[in-house]
Amino acid sequence: MVVERKYFQRFTFAEYVEYLKPFVSKVKFSQIHVHGTWKPTIVDYRRAADKMKIIQGMWRFHAITQNWGDIAQHATIDPDGYIWEGRSLLEAPASAVGYNDPDPDRIHPFMFEMIGNFDVGAEKLEGAQLASAVKLTSQIAAMWKLPDSQILFHREMNPAKTCPGSSVSKAAFLELVRDWRDVDMNASDANKIISTWLSPAWFAATTKAEKDEIHRLANELRKASGQL
Ligand SMILES: [Zn+2]
Repeated sequence: MVVERKYFQRFTFAEYVEYLKPFVSKVKFSQIHVHGTWKPTIVDYRRAADKMKIIQGMWRFHAITQNWGDIAQHATIDPDGYIWEGRSLLEAPASAVGYNDPDPDRIHPFMFEMIGNFDVGAEKLEGAQLASAVKLTSQIAAMWKLPDSQILFHREMNPAKTCPGSSVSKAAFLELVRDWRDVDMNASDANKIISTWLSPAWFAATTKAEKDEIHRLANELRKASGQL
């Protein structure tokens, strides 16, 4: 009898980036696998009073019904853009037959699911959820130094599937990942600007309005670099 897994941590994107950092030295992600759940749908998620029950439902289906040992994915992106933990990042995912790299060498793909049915005519991948999916893909690719060719949609590994959904264009998704990489500012550069330029200016400012403006600019930099 498998013990019920009752708790899954929920992260903002910035929190998840912090969570990922120690894993760079512990696991080598070889690819990024992008999935949509199809079911649960966004409507299912919106209706659920306790959102964690949606994640637990997937865990139960994958771990017990399918006998995959745990929830299939490393992370789940909900319709509000939050990232939920999945199986251990140190374990290979249950992503697609022939692509999971299940040996215990700590080299395997990173797999995430986006909650929703993204087939044409059903639900839309958009807003905060799309933003988190693009940012997460870009972040994993940057941290594990993966080229775009190692970003795979489920349907590329199993042509019988539409996953992550027939309305999600691979080309458009990759373009967003590339564009985000260009505008993304990493935290150390942002903090360098704050400490080298903004902080002296703040101390030199003679009015409250000047100080407030410098404070606002610093926070904009922190936001742009995923720190707020
Ligand atoms: Zn899939």
